[in-house]
Amino acid sequence: MAHRLQIRLLTWDVKDTLIRLRHPLGEEYATKARAHGLEVEPSALEQGFRQAYRAQSHSFPNYGLSQGLTSRQWWLDVVLQTFHLAGVQDAQAVTPIAEQLYDDFSRPCTWQVLDGAEDTLRECHSRGLRLSVISNFDQRLEGILGGLGLREHFDFVLTSEAAGWPKPDPRIFQEALRLAHMEPVVTAHVGDNYLCDYQGPRAVGMHSFLVVDPQALDPVVRDSVPKEHILPSLAHLLPALDLPRGLESRALRPVREVAGP
Ligand SMILES: [Mg+2]
Repeated sequence: MAHRLQIRLLTWDVKDTLIRLRHPLGEEYATKARAHGLEVEPSALEQGFRQAYRAQSHSFPNYGLSQGLTSRQWWLDVVLQTFHLAGVQDAQAVTPIAEQLYDDFSRPCTWQVLDGAEDTLRECHSRGLRLSVISNFDQRLEGILGGLGLREHFDFVLTSEAAGWPKPDPRIFQEALRLAHMEPVVTAHVGDNYLCDYQGPRAVGMHSFLVVDPQALDPVVRDSVPKEHILPSLAHLLPALDLPRGLESRALRPVREVAGP
């Protein structure tokens, strides 16, 4: 017998689930550097960024907000460190590039909506599902989603900057449940990261789905996730939920409020 999930709320990861960068990050950084008279290899910038981002996230989790940083300062530091690791030692020359990149990454045109994202969100709506965002992102996300025409699909956009905790911290999921007035059992999270988007929500009792190419998954992870929770594309989501067509939104009454952290 088919298992039917009684899902009322879908929460969404954003980056690489619904939208992605239009150009690879290394290319984007190299183009801006060139416009400021600096020639740097995109591959060196890509590699430097990975290292800088990891180190910054480790030393200053969630944009260093609890350590007195702003998300903008946090990002400017990441860019400065990225160029340093790519061999550019002149921080003064990099500062205007970092500021330019921060502004550019807040512009919708730097991003593109992934195939199937709009159709899937629209179809979810027509089936009476409520939708919201839970994203490890900063305050620029609302504007990006608005500019890409996706914001209207969501009841709310909860970023890690606003929540104070990044995924997979249970508190960001609990905050979303509190905002939605939903019990976890009637909610599901959708995203592309195993720890943040699959394990994190399950730790608070939500359902979750991974939107990934199964072949790209670490075999240990792949073997630990039931096949029906892995979606090779967004088109696989609605069949996975197995919701009856024509479910009316009026049938979706809020349930008792979940205690916040
Ligand atoms: Mg993601």
